[in-house]
Amino acid sequence: MRTHSSKSLALLLCLFLPAAAFSQTPFSGTPAIEQSLRKLTVLGSVLFIAAHPDDENTAILAYYARGRHMRTGYLSLTRGEGGQNLIGPEQGDLLGLIRSHELLAARQIDGAEQFFTRAIDFGYSKTPEETFAKWGRGRILSDVVWVIRRFRPDVVMLRFSGTPRDGHGQHQVSAILGKEAFFAAGDPSRFPEQLKFVEPWKPRRLLFNSFSFNKEMEKEAAATPGRIEVDTGDYDPVLGVSYSQIAGMSRSMHRSQGMGASQRPGPSRQFLVPVAGDAPAKDAFDGIDTTWQRVPGGADIARILNEAVRTFEPEHPERTIPLLLKAHPLIATLAAQHDPWGTEKLVELNEAVALCGGLWLDANADNYAVVPGATVEVNYTALNRSPFPMALNSLTLEGMGGESRTDAHRAALGPNQPVNAQLKYAVPADQPYSQPFWMREPKQGDTYTIPDQRMIGLPDDPPLLNLRFGLEAGGVAFDLVRPVRHRYVDRVDGEQSRALIVVPPVALNLPQDVMLFPNGDGRKVEVEVRADVPKVAGDVHLALDAGWSAEPASRTFAQTQAGQQQPLAFEVTPARGPDPPAWLRGVAHVGDREIGVGMLVISHPPLPPLTVFPPAVAKLVRAEVRVTAHKVGYVMGAGDGMPDAMRQLGCEVTLLTPSDLVERDLSEFDAIVTGVRAYNTRADLRVNLPRLLDYVRNGGTLIDQYNVTDANLVPMGPYPFKVGHDRVTVEEAPVTFTNPGNPLLSTPNEITQKDFEGWIQERGLYFASEWDPRYQTVLESHDPGEKPLAGGMLYARYGKGVYIFSGYSWFRELPAGVPGAYRLFANMLSAK
Ligand SMILES: [Zn+2]
Repeated sequence: MRTHSSKSLALLLCLFLPAAAFSQTPFSGTPAIEQSLRKLTVLGSVLFIAAHPDDENTAILAYYARGRHMRTGYLSLTRGEGGQNLIGPEQGDLLGLIRSHELLAARQIDGAEQFFTRAIDFGYSKTPEETFAKWGRGRILSDVVWVIRRFRPDVVMLRFSGTPRDGHGQHQVSAILGKEAFFAAGDPSRFPEQLKFVEPWKPRRLLFNSFSFNKEMEKEAAATPGRIEVDTGDYDPVLGVSYSQIAGMSRSMHRSQGMGASQRPGPSRQFLVPVAGDAPAKDAFDGIDTTWQRVPGGADIARILNEAVRTFEPEHPERTIPLLLKAHPLIATLAAQHDPWGTEKLVELNEAVALCGGLWLDANADNYAVVPGATVEVNYTALNRSPFPMALNSLTLEGMGGESRTDAHRAALGPNQPVNAQLKYAVPADQPYSQPFWMREPKQGDTYTIPDQRMIGLPDDPPLLNLRFGLEAGGVAFDLVRPVRHRYVDRVDGEQSRALIVVPPVALNLPQDVMLFPNGDGRKVEVEVRADVPKVAGDVHLALDAGWSAEPASRTFAQTQAGQQQPLAFEVTPARGPDPPAWLRGVAHVGDREIGVGMLVISHPPLPPLTVFPPAVAKLVRAEVRVTAHKVGYVMGAGDGMPDAMRQLGCEVTLLTPSDLVERDLSEFDAIVTGVRAYNTRADLRVNLPRLLDYVRNGGTLIDQYNVTDANLVPMGPYPFKVGHDRVTVEEAPVTFTNPGNPLLSTPNEITQKDFEGWIQERGLYFASEWDPRYQTVLESHDPGEKPLAGGMLYARYGKGVYIFSGYSWFRELPAGVPGAYRLFANMLSAK
């Protein structure tokens, strides 16, 4: 019954079926049916291209997907790894994962599909050249071409112009590559290795969705030849909202970026400017046949489906089913001939039958997590909530490289009579854990490594396991596919469901990714073993690079319940030899299975819980770093990893609460540090700034990190200085000493050029642009070809203490284990 055969090309291509076809929309009942019936009659497509999650014009997406019923896609070159995070501590890849799911949530509302390339948002970049150097121009162009060939858009729209007026270098690149790919996708001599999976595709036209920041720009733009207008403020009487209102709901899904948006009713003009292909006269789809006429034999299908739209009765949706079933064999024939529209519309047609019949099909796993080699129990339900007779013929579980079909559950589906039973599926013993596919292999610079070409572009992994319901109605057989999920009831949030995932029997969580060993001293490393299944026992050891050692050699664990956690402590001693980095790997044995990963569940409702399996690997950094500050107070701002980094230096760190700032005696602290954007985010800090300055006057050390120039920012420090917008984005940019005698450069650690090696992402941001002469500058750095910037670190003695402002990116460099950054920051903490 179970087969693991290699699949034919046609089956492999099913991976590329539009994700939106399977997903729920926020609309149900009549609006959902109306949307699906109208969409069945439209064969047109548009792909929107930009650089980041939140660059997309959700009004344009909603208008074309929900209003014009086009197949609509958004290609974001990156997953937004370099953005800010207003909802949690996750940065980098993990933020990219969160933002990928924010985009998927937005797309469910606006009705578009989502795609990405392998490019990683590495932070702000001033030029397209820097961006191309980090990504590899050919690699990302290949991905844009691939998405165009697979999606086959009639119209491609760019959010950016490809010129410096776009600002961010990654924005410019999205338009430059969008233009190049527009021509390359149709040329079989470009990226021929893709042609085993897809055919060349030449979109009809390329438009730029222009924007104006001010009246001047608008005046200039209005004179652009060929500019056309779209009103996304059109009201949809079936949905009860305008497309701009839908756009506001969709945009509000970008929660990590704080993009909550209003839902403005009324007119909303958007502009499109021709870039390539033939220019449209009035409408983006002028001259493009977006009806069934574009497909051989399509006229008959059009006639039937137009009748379905015309005769649909909201009170009796089941009366539309016979028309849909009449179109079924015609569309199925096209699909069998691998016509891309046929394949796509057949899925939409089957889903329309389900909507009209009120079909409830569910595949519920007994648990959300399963280990390799175990068996999943799947409880299925098929429920026909219409008077139209239907039948269940077969059930096929598909996924994890195999499939299991049964027709033992044949049953008639009478009105509102559920049919349910249980199926079992054996998970292969070698099934990998459910790590997001783009995070499985080590990165190549600022791009993800995705060995399987067919996975490139996808927003997320396909479901681990699907249940294919083989159904019959009116003598026509049709299939509907539902992902196997785990459904449960939360006492607060009500019924929830989450994806089925494969997990290791235990996960090993290390306390840090980077472990600091100041001055070659040993330290305790506590590994947390978390059981993912009940009754699990085994042992853990630390594998270390030559010269390093751990005591004891291994420790055993035994846990009775899933979710149980057990800390296992080891004493790790550094090698005596030359400088690191060295590596530590946590290894667990359970039976004959070796496990080397941790497990992290990211939970930011309303997003689904997201699980990743970071390797249980830590970088070991030996740094000659001395710090004379012992007790440090930290005022956490927007969220950063500085407290842990300072603890690794040997400091005792206290997070200061609002009441601490009001009434605690601060003189117990050797230094107080404010977190990144603390003045932007904490009113209690702004109000209590005088108390902090008193603390300095009486002999304390206060260090302020970067803050942005928003309306909340108050003047910091004892003497005036102004925060500007200057940043140094090139992490290798030279750093020079403006006042070599400043104690921050020598006490207690002697700072040299070597301390500026190995920095990541950037030197710093939001440097001071003007300052009182009572401040002494310490460092100067600037991006290639730009003016010198000395405002990245200001030092002043004030009363008996010291005040330091620094826009250098300590919050990135310390958690990344950059030894020189630790040495310089230790001097700041130790300043007296
Ligand atoms: Zn952007």
